[in-house]
Amino acid sequence: MKKCKLFFLFLVFFTLNNFLLEAQNIKTNGKPTLVIHGGAGTILKENMTPESEQAYHAKLKEALNAGHEILDSGGTSEEAVIAAVIVMENSPLFNAGKGAVFTSEGTNEMDASIMNGGDGSAGAVAGIKTVKNPILAAQVVKNNSVHVMMSGSGAESFARDSGLELVEPSYFYTERRKKQLEKLQKAEKVKEEGSINKWKDYKYGTVGAVALDKDGNISAATSTGGMTNKKYGRIGDSPVIGAGTFANQICGVSGTGHGEYFIRNVVAYDIAARMEYKSVSLSKATEEVIMNKLKAINGGGGVIALDADGNISMTFNTAGMYRGYIQKKQKAKTFIFNVED
Ligand code: ASP
Repeated sequence: MKKCKLFFLFLVFFTLNNFLLEAQNIKTNGKPTLVIHGGAGTILKENMTPESEQAYHAKLKEALNAGHEILDSGGTSEEAVIAAVIVMENSPLFNAGKGAVFTSEGTNEMDASIMNGGDGSAGAVAGIKTVKNPILAAQVVKNNSVHVMMSGSGAESFARDSGLELVEPSYFYTERRKKQLEKLQKAEKVKEEGSINKWKDYKYGTVGAVALDKDGNISAATSTGGMTNKKYGRIGDSPVIGAGTFANQICGVSGTGHGEYFIRNVVAYDIAARMEYKSVSLSKATEEVIMNKLKAINGGGGVIALDADGNISMTFNTAGMYRGYIQKKQKAKTFIFNVED
């Protein structure tokens, strides 16, 4: 009887432990590996319909499969993160590319960056309005110029000269995002604190991907419309190498959340630096930065991260984060809410 009880307890512990591991930190299944996010925030089950939940899971899976196909056929981590991010940029579900949030002036201004941890190269664009896939603009800055970051019309000219597809700014218009802007502006105008809080999560929703290829190289990419109602040409953390995106030979990180906090705390690089200088694991480093350091100062958000062994961390201090991963010979796994939900 006693033995039976012990076995039962062990079973409960084992199941729970595995569930927690699966939801946040996943032990390696080796190379190749891909992890993605579609933004963090107060994403609650009660605010979603079964159909919208299903739509997010399906699009995250599509993005994971697009990247994984490349990795599986021997492609590079850079190619894989680009493929995954493009799927999400082309979907109105996410705050990147089509579906980007609106600025206070009613425009869509996008930021994106990419870093290849294999050779340390990086590229970024900020405040662009006409490049269909901002992540491709970041990649051409990385590959075709001697610079790391370009902004506004200069970045757009460079993207056009590099052969990228430009679109009319109206391509980025979506009814849903316009309504979010109007509601937030109305609430701010009359200083309805409750309402502002209610709409505050319309500010988030970036996309990102981190991949490890068969050669052991890691790349990270992030793309966003920024934060709803952003003002004065505001640029967030997503195009800032070290803040919203970072990759080296130890790990790769892509962040989402309140960008000002990510910039001030150099979040993506801080995670990599902790691993390098303190010799802590990926899961420990992300926990220290997201759950301790950022949370203590009300910096809402999360990261996806991957180390050179293929260990994954999807850590966030908000109610939810659209996220998922895929590893060798496994099916894509996607999540939306916190483990408690
Ligand atoms: N980090 C992005 C920014 O501040 C927003 C987000 O992740 O949703 O621009």
